[in-house]
Amino acid sequence: MHTMRRGAVVVTVISALLRGSEPCVAQEWPMHSLERPKPRVVNPGPPGPPVPPPADAIVLFDGRDLTRWRAANGGAARWKVENGYFEVAPGAGTLASADSFGDVQVHIEWMAPSPPKGESQDRGNSGVFLMGQYEVQVLDSYRSDTYADGQAGALYGQFPPLVNASRPPGEWQSYDIVFRAPRFDSAGTVLRPARMTVLHNNVLIHDNVELVGPTSHRERRPYVRHADRLPITLQDHAHPVRYRNVWVRALD
Ligand code: MG
Repeated sequence: MHTMRRGAVVVTVISALLRGSEPCVAQEWPMHSLERPKPRVVNPGPPGPPVPPPADAIVLFDGRDLTRWRAANGGAARWKVENGYFEVAPGAGTLASADSFGDVQVHIEWMAPSPPKGESQDRGNSGVFLMGQYEVQVLDSYRSDTYADGQAGALYGQFPPLVNASRPPGEWQSYDIVFRAPRFDSAGTVLRPARMTVLHNNVLIHDNVELVGPTSHRERRPYVRHADRLPITLQDHAHPVRYRNVWVRALD
């Protein structure tokens, strides 16, 4: 480790300790670095049946229709619905929940296309965006390589998952997300960054991680003050990724 980087790490750790939070490691590596260590693989076991929503959940998709979703750029949701799931219709655009959420618990199940097609980021790519701007990456990362901060379960461009708990394409996978929205003062200063805890196929992959800003591609974006509640969005990355059994619990 170079002296410069060690110094930066010490400063990061000390400032994190002063704030009483986990050290923020997102900026130790350049975005999308291929040298960044790949999380070890953990077999999460086989998929089970859909996880039933608890009594106080808001069910965003129960297998029937997309009435609780819209096209993010306006109009009706035009993704395909069949056999209890919905599927990205390439070109139909981002989907946004009709309801808006701040602090929230999210359960969502997804499946990468089988047989797999393409490599790296061009393989089963979609994404679950809290507040439309904090992405938990959806990607086929089963025996498929890409940069660590862009693989399945990554908080895109910031944090690789702690482990790679991917199932093969064609099998249902789940994300359980606890999201704490950022807080801003009236001048737009960040009082508290966004935080995420995520389980991938019931395996912990993020433990109360502090996001450094909205997730983005190749370029870090600073926080910009936004509403207290915003829709959850799902990415159309032109790959026919499927989703089912989507429910949330408002935590605020
Ligand atoms: Mg994506």
